[in-house]
Amino acid sequence: MKIGVLAVQGAFIEHERMLERLGAQTVELRKKSDITENVLDGLVLPGGESTVQGKLLRELDMFDSIKALIEKGTPVLATCAGMILLARHISGDSSVHLGTLPVTVKRNAYGRQLGSFVTKGDFKGLGEFEMTFIRAPYVEKSESDEVELLSEVAGKTVAVRYKNQIALAFHPEVGEDTRIHELFLKMIK
Ligand code: GLN
Repeated sequence: MKIGVLAVQGAFIEHERMLERLGAQTVELRKKSDITENVLDGLVLPGGESTVQGKLLRELDMFDSIKALIEKGTPVLATCAGMILLARHISGDSSVHLGTLPVTVKRNAYGRQLGSFVTKGDFKGLGEFEMTFIRAPYVEKSESDEVELLSEVAGKTVAVRYKNQIALAFHPEVGEDTRIHELFLKMIK
């Protein structure tokens, strides 16, 4: 099983380590040919800075091939900035990146004081999960009945699934709990 991990910016190495620990092979996606010359069974969009990642996707000419991969049904695990890249709308902002996930997200949604924090939340099918939030977004609004709620923390939606796309506001790649990555790999099988 080969998972492409977007590696233009942000926290991609932690995802690679976790996936490899679980027995998957990973490929760093840094240019268009990394996508077109590999058969990718899954895709990870890591945390980082969504504006920078969105800009690099376009500048490196990777945008269309990533979007096509998602639209043809390749399973995607997106965390934090990755969730923002997928979102159809960004609250108070007219920019949109891949736009394949029918939700509105709010960036840096927890304000300055709560910029980064760790909390426990309930994750559908897994139970309690320790969640690390780093200048995180949340899902402000769902735009389709097919968006499934996976987790809510303090009344805010922090994880959703829509068809082949799982988007998380927090960082499951930090720490030792591999259950979300396992869930993602199961989705591929
Ligand atoms: N604040 C970042 C953004 O808006 C996301 C933060 C993260 O990925 N940890 O893109």
